[in-house]
Amino acid sequence: MGRVIAIANQKGGVGKTTTAINLASSIAAAEVNTLLVDCDPQSNTSSGLGLAKDPERISTYHLLMGAASAEESLQKTELEQLWLIPSHKNLIGANIELVDAERREFRLRDALAPLRDRFHYIVLDCPPALDLLTLNALVAADAVLIPMQAEYFALEGISELLDTIERIRASLNPSLTIEGVVLTMFDDRTNLAQQVTAELSRYFGDKLCKTTIPRNIRLAEAPSHGQPALIYDVRSRGAESYIQLAKEILGRSGLTVQELPPPVDEAQEKQVVNAPKWKRWMRERNKLITINIVDR
Ligand code: ATP
Ligand code: MG
Repeated sequence: MGRVIAIANQKGGVGKTTTAINLASSIAAAEVNTLLVDCDPQSNTSSGLGLAKDPERISTYHLLMGAASAEESLQKTELEQLWLIPSHKNLIGANIELVDAERREFRLRDALAPLRDRFHYIVLDCPPALDLLTLNALVAADAVLIPMQAEYFALEGISELLDTIERIRASLNPSLTIEGVVLTMFDDRTNLAQQVTAELSRYFGDKLCKTTIPRNIRLAEAPSHGQPALIYDVRSRGAESYIQLAKEILGRSGLTVQELPPPVDEAQEKQVVNAPKWKRWMRERNKLITINIVDR
């Protein structure tokens, strides 16, 4: 069974979409079949992966409304092992259209169920609201990854989200866990960042991800080229930090993460030479990761 991770924080602009795109891409780059589902009517994940707007395209809206199957809505991406279920701006209407629907909180969970053994990881990008769309994502998920910025009152800012997670656990999805809290647009040189990190670390313990994501212009530029950072500029600190986060997340869920050794013979060498630029670079830098599933 694949693991479903919702990227959620009701606060806007904290790096949910950037994290969803780049985490999912980094996991896919580790040669793990990965699905990214855009659950936000803003559709930033879809355009950030280069999908042009197309009103005819099957989207998360159709999934939630029961008008299409998850299988029908899959889109390929530039990365061989990354698939996308795109969003559409009419998804905003689903909040209202689903109010009286049967199993309205379980729509996404039910729709994704047939895909769960085809993908090792399913990443859900949520909108900046605790609305029915985010609720559907949290009910469909095994775990929530919370991106946040290191600010004063950081904990107050996410208390509503933590309360919501508690309530969902008590009723709709008892097995929902917190995957982690990841600090985004992070600048560890400031005192503020260090104080906030210490506070969050006391509160969340090892749920606070060791990897932090620095503020990096390449991460902001990549979506306008329709590419994840590791294709746009694999050498950037931004791309590198999300590769690191992927290693940490894969490691957290009972998977052993191994570095792939450099090519040993001519055949492997050739494979490396023919591989796309980002893959070659990861190889050279010994960054390409593979996983072995180990017993928990
Ligand atoms: P929304 O709540 O609107 O969905 P979001 O939480 O998904 O927003 P993003 O869209 O990922 O946030 O990021 C907000 C803005 O900050 C975007 O312009 C993005 O390119 C930029 N950004 C995100 N992370 C970084 C980073 N680490 N370094 C530089 N810019 C970043
Ligand atoms: Mg977003």
